[in-house]
Amino acid sequence: MVDLQQVRIVVDAPQHSGLTGPLDYTSEHPLAPGSLVRVPLGRRDVAGLVWPAVQPDSTPDALPAAPALPITLRAVQQVVRSLPPLSPRWCELVSFTAAYYQRSIGEVALSVLPPELRKLDDAQLRRRIDRLRRALLPDSLPEVALPGLRGVPAASAEQAQVLAQLDALRTAQQSPVVLLHGATGSGKTEVYLRAAEQVLAAGRQVLVLVPEINLTPQLEARFAERFGAAPTPRRIVSLHSGLTPAQRLRHWLAAHLGLADLVLGTRLAVFASLPRLGLIVVDEEHDPSYKQQEGARYSARDLAVYRGRLEQATVLLGSATPSLESWQRAEEGRYTRLAMPSRIGSGALPRVRLVDMNQLPRSGSSQALSPQLVAALQQRIERGEQSLVFLNRRGYAPVLHCGACGWKSACPHCSAWRVFHKLDRSLRCHHCGFTQAVPRACPDCGNTDIAPIGRGTERLEEQLAQVLPEARVARIDADSTRLKGSLQAQLGAVHAGEVDVLVGTQMIAKGHDFRRITLVAAVNPDSALFSSDFRAPERLFALLLQAAGRAGRDAAQAARSEMWVQTWHPQHALYAALRRHDFAAFAASQLAEREMAGLPPYSHLALLRAEARSATAARDFLRAASEIGTASAGSAVVAFYPPVPASVARVANVERMQMLIEAPSRVMLQRVLAGWLPQLHALRNERRGADERILRWAVDVDPLAI
Ligand SMILES: [Zn+2]
Ligand SMILES: [Zn+2]
Repeated sequence: MVDLQQVRIVVDAPQHSGLTGPLDYTSEHPLAPGSLVRVPLGRRDVAGLVWPAVQPDSTPDALPAAPALPITLRAVQQVVRSLPPLSPRWCELVSFTAAYYQRSIGEVALSVLPPELRKLDDAQLRRRIDRLRRALLPDSLPEVALPGLRGVPAASAEQAQVLAQLDALRTAQQSPVVLLHGATGSGKTEVYLRAAEQVLAAGRQVLVLVPEINLTPQLEARFAERFGAAPTPRRIVSLHSGLTPAQRLRHWLAAHLGLADLVLGTRLAVFASLPRLGLIVVDEEHDPSYKQQEGARYSARDLAVYRGRLEQATVLLGSATPSLESWQRAEEGRYTRLAMPSRIGSGALPRVRLVDMNQLPRSGSSQALSPQLVAALQQRIERGEQSLVFLNRRGYAPVLHCGACGWKSACPHCSAWRVFHKLDRSLRCHHCGFTQAVPRACPDCGNTDIAPIGRGTERLEEQLAQVLPEARVARIDADSTRLKGSLQAQLGAVHAGEVDVLVGTQMIAKGHDFRRITLVAAVNPDSALFSSDFRAPERLFALLLQAAGRAGRDAAQAARSEMWVQTWHPQHALYAALRRHDFAAFAASQLAEREMAGLPPYSHLALLRAEARSATAARDFLRAASEIGTASAGSAVVAFYPPVPASVARVANVERMQMLIEAPSRVMLQRVLAGWLPQLHALRNERRGADERILRWAVDVDPLAI
């Protein structure tokens, strides 16, 4: 008789199924934790992972005795032996993510693996792996095309000092976390490259995270240029959502099998399986894109720090405008802050000029661009230099308006205006996508004189072309880059000098290395100063400083590079700090405000969101949830705030409400959430009446936007 083993398997089951932890199955052979298997679940046959045994100290209650075999347990159907098991550290990262962000382990584990892994059987996967190994023989060509090796630049004094400090830290600590605070243009990438070089030389792997896919080709090229060629060529792969399923599987396998030395990717790549991980770089660590906005709403930056500790790897968080959370941890000494305040080649940081819009004569629509700014743009064109003008609103105008009856272009399905797009004469809702042709006359009163109010990038582009008739004006935003490859083509035109004035949204303000831009202008950034979201000033400051960093990247032009800000509030402290490029002062004042108000990083938040057909249903659910939470929290230190509508309360006819939960420590927040959320599944199921039904609910731990 065969001696059956009991194994714990995690499968992809959503949180609300109640299957939050591993399930028990039987196997004829012992199975290594981290092995990919196929198991029966209900009537289906699903992919699962053999999960490591629970650490005794993580379960306060004694484990129940294993049930007698084989009464109820079903057998594992197939073991995918061609795939080496995922490491215990990887499993621990997933377990932590699931617990911290309140999701099921299986959901997290299976969702971060390449989807192809679930589809292929053992034999198919074995063929893929064999093919990959043959393709990646040591003498074969690397994955990325090489632009040809150029000389390695000498490190600047600041870079050399930072690298020496980094070296010392790595000798002293097993897994140091370093916040690299480097001005835009200070050469942070060179530090990443050199830090990577050392780790690679020690035979370990490097993971580099970037906030956006658009920024990966640029960085990939630099890493390939440095590491892709002899004497010891390194294999570099990318991992992001822009890959085909087959590419994603191949790149993931290359990392998992240890064939790739460097992985470059977006937030998802924080879960890449890297058996010899030695360094994690998080570039632009402040960027909101590191926060996943659905499913397990994890922060890839925070998980990178956790993973560094698990893997005994160095974590390097880089930014010119660090998140206040990271800045605060450096202040407390939990991270080590290393600074590079100067630009490479002793290029000066752009001079910041504030245009006081209150001083302009009031003359209607010409207000969008002050005469001073137009003159400055004109000057750049005459000198053959480029300018970048940005406005965080796409479309022609945010709303159309009838002066006769007061009609506005509201979306019938959302609590938002439909945006006027002049190019295709459409009214488009940016929340639900509802699109209609622009009416010839006011739908309410028939007045034919309906006019746009406010402006977006399309209108700004039009106005720039009017005031600068000889300029070549181009626009880059989500509308102009809808087609695959169009962004790269448009950026190419800018780099080739075919554009004098580039107009766009924040999309162009981040990361791109424009060499010929000497003027950057923010046309109307004021709204973030008075937002109800406490992080809005932090985001605005980061955006403006990053945008300023696009100017004068060529040292020869740096001296006359300028950042222009048109504002109605020139006295605001944020702009004063911006003028001095003084991030530390800005951070200190913001942190003082947050401490007074008891906001992160001085408190810890979770946001419970609920969606229903009526606002009342959503609100009632949150209120009931709040009562359960308050009763079971058994402690007045965890606060449940009253439900409020989301910033856009209705989208596609769904009402969205949210409720903030605040705790003085992470541990306390975690404890309350863990006890509370299972009860909410039951609460939701109780509410079946048509007028009380909840369509969706979710919890967001450490929410970024509230
Ligand atoms: Zn009207
Ligand atoms: Zn809509």
